[in-house]
Amino acid sequence: MEGTTVRGGLGWRQSTLVDTIVETPRVKSLVLDVPNSLAHRAGQHVDVRLTAEDGYQAARSYSIASPPEERRLVLTIERLDDGEVSPYLVDELRVGDPLELRGPIGGYFVWESSMSGPLLLIAGGSGIVPLRAIIRHRIATNSDAPVRLVYSVRTPDDVIYRQEMDRLATSATGIEVIYTFTRVAPGGWAGYQRRIDAALLAEVCWPPESKPTAFICGPTPLVETAANILSTLGYQPTSIKTERFGPTGGP
Ligand SMILES: Cc1cc2nc3c(=O)[nH]c(=O)nc-3n(C[C@H](O)[C@H](O)[C@H](O)COP(=O)(O)OP(=O)(O)OC[C@H]3O[C@@H](n4cnc5c(N)ncnc54)[C@H](O)[C@@H]3O)c2cc1C
Repeated sequence: MEGTTVRGGLGWRQSTLVDTIVETPRVKSLVLDVPNSLAHRAGQHVDVRLTAEDGYQAARSYSIASPPEERRLVLTIERLDDGEVSPYLVDELRVGDPLELRGPIGGYFVWESSMSGPLLLIAGGSGIVPLRAIIRHRIATNSDAPVRLVYSVRTPDDVIYRQEMDRLATSATGIEVIYTFTRVAPGGWAGYQRRIDAALLAEVCWPPESKPTAFICGPTPLVETAANILSTLGYQPTSIKTERFGPTGGP
């Protein structure tokens, strides 16, 4: 992973689940109490480790959905039905249960308010998670960096943080939200209804002359497609930051 750093050492630590939020039928946010704050930056992730009674362990990475300003750490997990770890986190973990994690991890896919230029955020499915942390951090720090979020989801029911995104889209925060629905669009929808492609990004992206920074996160094919298109449109390679969530699939 590009520029990976682990602050606070590689040690595992115990957090406690204090609340859950149902985001979509397949996605849940876990609100965690972590002793001695992780002091993370917006865009970073943690590793989560499960240990079975026989000692078998499985670890996976999850982006941090909450900004550094919030006391509780929030992870947002999409259940993959044939997965080893995500079904447990979404369906089995109960308030009061411990959860082992380490981090924060990642020094490259990070936004800080000292960074100049407009922000282009591109998410596919659960790839919205670290971008939500960036958006909340942008608001909490009163940054006036213009933000354009392009959010690709399969159906309206798959929109994660829906109320928050809709609120942003209709308020004068300098944050624009552009959805594209790849399978089913809401009734009467006049917006995009296809996977992210060159024509779509050419219409919505900031011009390269405005020195934007792009953060792209989601399934590997979406991330690679969007990064290649931005490069073709004239974005500097160093201004395109990517995080790949998984080997397959896509909204
Ligand atoms: C830096 C980073 C941050 C991540 N942040 C998040 C996050 O915030 N929220 C979140 O839900 N996930 C996130 N992921 C993905 C997460 O780490 C796991 O890969 C995912 O939860 C699947 O784990 P599993 O044990 O349930 O499935 P596995 O047992 O690992 O895999 C089951 C099946 O699903 C496929 N698969 C694995 N991962 C994915 C995927 N992401 N998409 C589609 N198919 C997949 C596998 O090829 C396999 O066929 C992140 C990954 C990385 C690398």
